[in-house]
Amino acid sequence: MTLFDSSAPGDAIPSTCSRAACRASATWTVAWRNPRIHSPERKKLWLACDEHRDFLETYLSSRGFPVVVVPAGSEVPQLPQAGTA
Ligand SMILES: [Zn+2]
Repeated sequence: MTLFDSSAPGDAIPSTCSRAACRASATWTVAWRNPRIHSPERKKLWLACDEHRDFLETYLSSRGFPVVVVPAGSEVPQLPQAGTA
């Protein structure tokens, strides 16, 4: 037995909520971009549990960042361009 035996190949990557101190497993992917520092193709991905999905989405959108939330594991669509309401 080695330490590596415990993680079976093909296991999902451990995916926990991005909210600080939250250990819940993530059920949502929060994709966002800061238009001031990121180019239009860039996407930052956070993970969120059910409880913090709204928190993270509001946190980002209140800063004027484009945000898209999709179920974890789903393909993330292109983020909307900033300034196109
Ligand atoms: Zn959470």
